[in-house]
Amino acid sequence: MNAVSKQTLSAQQIFEQLDTYRLLEAKQQPSWPDARAVEAAKQELSTQPPLVFAGEADQLRERLAAAARGEAFLLQGGDCAETFEAATADRIRDRVKTLLQMAVVLTYGASMPVIKVGRMAGQFAKPRSSDNETREGVTLPAYRGDLVNGYEFTEQSRTPDPSRLVQGYHVSASTLNLIRAFTQGGFADLRQVHAWNQGFVSNPANRRYEALAAEIDRALRFMDACGVDHTALTQTEFYVSHEALLLDYERPLTRIDSRTGNLYDTSGHMLWIGERTRDIDGAHVDYLSKVRNPIGVKLGPTATVDDALRLIDKIDPEREPGRLTFITRMGAGKIRDVLPGLLAGVRDSGAQPLWITDPMHGNGITTATGYKTRRFDDVMNELLGFFEAHREVGTIPGGIHVEVTGDDVTEVLGGAENIDEEALATRYESVVDPRLNHRQSLELAFQVAEELKR
Ligand code: PEP
Ligand code: MN
Repeated sequence: MNAVSKQTLSAQQIFEQLDTYRLLEAKQQPSWPDARAVEAAKQELSTQPPLVFAGEADQLRERLAAAARGEAFLLQGGDCAETFEAATADRIRDRVKTLLQMAVVLTYGASMPVIKVGRMAGQFAKPRSSDNETREGVTLPAYRGDLVNGYEFTEQSRTPDPSRLVQGYHVSASTLNLIRAFTQGGFADLRQVHAWNQGFVSNPANRRYEALAAEIDRALRFMDACGVDHTALTQTEFYVSHEALLLDYERPLTRIDSRTGNLYDTSGHMLWIGERTRDIDGAHVDYLSKVRNPIGVKLGPTATVDDALRLIDKIDPEREPGRLTFITRMGAGKIRDVLPGLLAGVRDSGAQPLWITDPMHGNGITTATGYKTRRFDDVMNELLGFFEAHREVGTIPGGIHVEVTGDDVTEVLGGAENIDEEALATRYESVVDPRLNHRQSLELAFQVAEELKR
């Protein structure tokens, strides 16, 4: 729809067009016990200020367009599920530091701008394979993320509570505030490249990072001596994203941009649709097709060329650069068989979405001791398969989507410190999927940098 016809629509008409999603099936929504309380929470959310500005989402779309052309690389990462409890200054800082460090490794390796997008400030709603969970004969609703219910296995905690929608907004606001302070207030200054490494347990990946930081330092001192203006290095762009799963949260935060008259979901800069909710006729695809934010869609191993083309037609009918990102999550054993055909089919249609790899979600296993984990080797193997597939087809491997944390957890098997099944128990903290710890995150970044240098 062009801008002229949009201006002739009233706000009410624009929202009526948005709300057709209500007629479609929305998977993975909670069964709220009290409809009135949900309406009250939505009403309250709708009166709150936007979390992000539409112009920032537009800027990110332009950055992603550069990545789709091979002129930048996307690093998207963070927790599988953020929790309200972990939204503390220290832990947010460590996650930001980890992503900044990974970005430096990638920027240096690729000699390309790295677009930094956190799975942060809104990653609070989770799709689950089952509505209920049973422990020792007791069955309760499954944990669906802090935006819906509590992780603690009691009836009270597991009952969906709509006031969490409002709480999630406020936790997101304070998280985003701190991210903005860190990335605009001097902390992300490239001359702090050593400082980001401090406070983490010393290990070989850290030391490799230190060596690279020393090289960057030398280059900066050289530029200083030459009188080069450093202002561009003192701040960094940092965007936030989450899976737009819970429509009762996304809808009240969707607003009309006063500059353009277009709809933006102001809960985050970029929003993605998960593997379980990407049905072409479902509510999520319909809803996100109508907001102007950059949109991601996860594609698992069963995705066909036809699925991808239909998603492009629905979400990105104008083929707008940077609008649509496909996040493939095939599994290490399947990516080399499945991805090349998908890439070729989409390429042949003339569409140019951004392709990034999520090497985490296709590689889940459960240990005999009951831990949900992944093998670091499988994650690496899928990463390599991603680069191979793009080389084979001649398309552009534009970024990575990873579950990482700055904390010293033991959730993913392997890596240089070789976490084994026994060690998993020592510090397994994730409430949903296992994350790479700080050291594994750096190891992965160094590996990706090697691929980008080829
Ligand atoms: C996730 O990103 O945490 C997730 C649930 O992924 P997917 O939709 O790919 O399974
Ligand atoms: Mn996950």
